[in-house]
Order: sequence, then structure tokens, then C-alpha cells
Amino acid sequence: MAGQIRENIRQTEANIREACVRAGRDSQEVTLIAVSKTKPVAMLQEAYDCGCRHFGENKVQELAEKYGQLPKDIKWHMIGHLQRNKVKYIVDKAYLIHSVDSLRLAEEISKEAGKKGITAHILVEVNIAREETKFGIAKEEAEELIREIAKLPSLRVEGLMAIAPYVENPEKNRQYFEDLYHLSVDIKEKNIDNINMSVLSMGMTGDYEVAVEEGATYVRVGTGIFGERHYDAV
Ligand SMILES: *Cc1c(COP(=O)(O)O)cnc(C)c1O
Repeated sequence: MAGQIRENIRQTEANIREACVRAGRDSQEVTLIAVSKTKPVAMLQEAYDCGCRHFGENKVQELAEKYGQLPKDIKWHMIGHLQRNKVKYIVDKAYLIHSVDSLRLAEEISKEAGKKGITAHILVEVNIAREETKFGIAKEEAEELIREIAKLPSLRVEGLMAIAPYVENPEKNRQYFEDLYHLSVDIKEKNIDNINMSVLSMGMTGDYEVAVEEGATYVRVGTGIFGERHYDAV
């Protein structure tokens, strides 16, 4: 399997560039996050050696452990549901927290960031397809939540994140990506203090090209880089 990760990264980056061309976008606007959850550090190191600097993890403990074992110039993205009592373990390790969907969680992040004298960068997660099984705030409630979060110190909202439904045909998610894009434009136009709507985190292995065509600035690709995940082997 040597070289497979390198080949997957090259292919994914090429697909992103082509999607940018189709959409008339500059490919510099899109950053690939290698979603490395459940994968051993040796595989992350391999991706790092191919130039990857953005890695995504969904568990606090796993992110913290890998953080300690890999080069310090890696930008770690917390993409999974975050419990308030675990915020303190990652607030100074995560470059961006993608999964903020309540004021209480934002307050905890603000508090812990303040204690450490840093500013935490966060995204507000939107449940764009209204799936009962998913976290995230409803589209209609996003602006109000963001206005509340904006008042907190030691924290800055950089944009929005969504996890689209699992589908065989990525075209089925195009409307959701478009919806998230429009929501971010609407909120940006309100010029809320302390809010920067420049980041859109959307698109995974099955649908990232469509997400890029609809305005994603971060795509989160796991399987497409590291292969299938085997949860029992971890
Ligand atoms: C696991 C995960 C991904 C990556 O999923 P793949 O389908 O393997 O690319 C992206 N985003 C989130 C939030 C995830 O939990």
C-alpha cells in the first residue's frame, strides 16, 4: 500500500482544482482537511510528508494524543461533536472548532480560551438537511445564535459548517451546499461585530467536488485519503 496515500492526496487535490475551474473559482480559496480519525499517526505522518498541514479529528482525546506526537505546524480541526466538559483539553490545540451549535458550548469555549489568553476560532454547525440524527442548529436559528455568540470574548466566529446526508449520488446534496452558502452570504451582509463569514466547511469524500462548486472553503476528506475506517481495530 506504500504510496497509496500520496496518490489519493494528489487525486483529491486535482479533483478540487477541476471543481474550481468548473465553478470559476480560485483553487487557493479551498483547503483540503485530511480527516484522520481512527487512523494511526504513521499514516498522518505520511500525509504530512506529502504536504498536508490540515488534519481533522472528531474525538477530543484522539486529537490531543496525535497533537503531541506530530509536527507542531499541523493545523488541527475539531470536526466532531464537542462536550462542554472536554473543551479545556483542546481549546489551545484546535486551530478551528467546526462543531459549535449552542450558546452554552460557545460560552465554555470562550471561558477556557480566556483562561489561556488565546482567541478560539469557531464555526457554527448547521443541520442543513434537518436530519434528526445529526447535531447542528436549524438554518432559521443560526443568525440569532451567531448574534449571541458574537458578544462573547476570546472567541471568533469564522463561518459555517454542515454535514450533508450520506448519499450515493452527490448531486442530491447540491441544494444543501447551496443553502449553506446563501445562509453565510445573508449573515455576512448583516455585518455583525466579531463575525467573519469567510469560511464554509462542507463536503466529504462522497460529495466534496459538488461542495467546492457551491462555495466550500474547507472540504473534509477521510476515506478518500486514508481508505475505509475500521472502528474495531482502534
Ligand atoms: C468522518 C468525517 C468526515 C470524513 O468523512 P469521509 O466520508 O471519510 O470523507 C468529514 N466530516 C466529519 C464531520 C466527519 O466526522
